[in-house]
Amino acid sequence: MGYCVPENTPSEKVILIILDGLNYEVARDCLGNLMAYVELFKARLFKLRCELPSLSRPMYETIITGTRPIDHGVVHNDIIRNSRIESIFSLARSQKLTTAAAAFHWVSELYNDCPFEMMEGRYQNDPEQLIQHGIFYWQEQYPDSHLFADAEHLRVNNDPDFLLIHPMNIDHAGHRSGLLSADYHLAAKTVDTVLAEYMQKWLPLGYQILVTSDHGMNAECNHGGTTREEREVPLFLLGDSFSWLDDLQPEQLHICGIVCETLGIRDHGKLLPSRPGLA
Ligand SMILES: [Zn+2]
Repeated sequence: MGYCVPENTPSEKVILIILDGLNYEVARDCLGNLMAYVELFKARLFKLRCELPSLSRPMYETIITGTRPIDHGVVHNDIIRNSRIESIFSLARSQKLTTAAAAFHWVSELYNDCPFEMMEGRYQNDPEQLIQHGIFYWQEQYPDSHLFADAEHLRVNNDPDFLLIHPMNIDHAGHRSGLLSADYHLAAKTVDTVLAEYMQKWLPLGYQILVTSDHGMNAECNHGGTTREEREVPLFLLGDSFSWLDDLQPEQLHICGIVCETLGIRDHGKLLPSRPGLA
């Protein structure tokens, strides 16, 4: 496979943040805190085009497994079952790494128990599960600030090697008011303010952090189609271990492989960005 990950890249702890439903241009224009890191060359921002269909559950599986919906089979939101292929979670567990997630309950359904039961599923701690430590929510307007506090609780108490954080209020505002609305833009700015504080804490501790989205949003308050607004999403990379990507253009399908490489998982078999001529 034609890629150039430096040999002996150290294993690092990774935080993957999926800001549900965040269009690329709104990310670039509204996430002032993250863009401050980009301006100072302390972070990289890439424009990704999400796979199709531009829907949440298919894209969660795409990001976390590095495969397209037509290959992983979760082709719409109502396919409620476990993932059937290797994911960041399963690969990390096979290497005896610790996994955690603060996320919408669909993530629990993909990698832990399915269907999700509210009373039993809210807090999960089971070393045998793919997500060993989880806090899951089911109301889309569950405050992003609380979700990040849940994630911080998992980080402090369980010291995960891989932590997934997945807030939903940007997507919720988009469905309520659309891409061009003040409501949608304010939801992006609100989570950026939350991120501002956590970045100050996590980056000095050496965490390698990816911030991306599953899909975008259109002015008609939905997504699922093929327009630029629905497909273009950001990928912010914060941390020293991503320097090997500097002159490459990652795609959404590469996020899984990039996370595995950063965690020190080798022979993961997942797609990675390649240099022209080396593929
Ligand atoms: Zn949505």
